[in-house]
Amino acid sequence: MDSIGEMDIFSNSQNGGTLTNVSHNSGTSSSSTSSRYENQKRRDWNTFGQYLKNHRPPLALSRCSGAHVLEFLRYLDQFGKTKVHTPICPFYGHPNPPAPCPCPLRQAWGSLDALIGRLRAAFEENGGKPEANPFGARAVRLYLREVRDLQSKARGISYEKKKRKRPPPQQIPSLQLQVPPPPPVINKLKVR
Ligand SMILES: [Zn+2]
Repeated sequence: MDSIGEMDIFSNSQNGGTLTNVSHNSGTSSSSTSSRYENQKRRDWNTFGQYLKNHRPPLALSRCSGAHVLEFLRYLDQFGKTKVHTPICPFYGHPNPPAPCPCPLRQAWGSLDALIGRLRAAFEENGGKPEANPFGARAVRLYLREVRDLQSKARGISYEKKKRKRPPPQQIPSLQLQVPPPPPVINKLKVR
């Protein structure tokens, strides 16, 4: 199991050291990335909870549908920082416009897409049933696709289709010559 490997690193670092001195070792970078993801997911989940709380009329999570999620996404657009040109704007389709224009700012498609992914996971981690997950609703998927197409045309950017390939079980590169071998563990301190 992976956790055993991490435990080893962790217990070594308890040898009077701090966790920071292992931050450059391979194997720990992914865990810091994932904790950033976890933090972001928690913040997103709280934001959505706050949104439900302030919703008029009041909205319980259990009654939340894909339509409410869309409402939430449109609400977030007012805080967006991504210029999305309208078709009548002379900069429509320009990735780097040379001058300002009055087109609206929106949430970038990539942010929304990632946000929905985190909320979808958080919903189920907080006891929601997968079949009732409003963040996985078809309407939400269609909306995101629409936003992606619209923004890609308006901003002159093509979003690469991400292949949802799972990472291979072993990410050890075949060329290991540049990687120094790990130092042998001479004296393992027993950690209680
Ligand atoms: Zn514009």
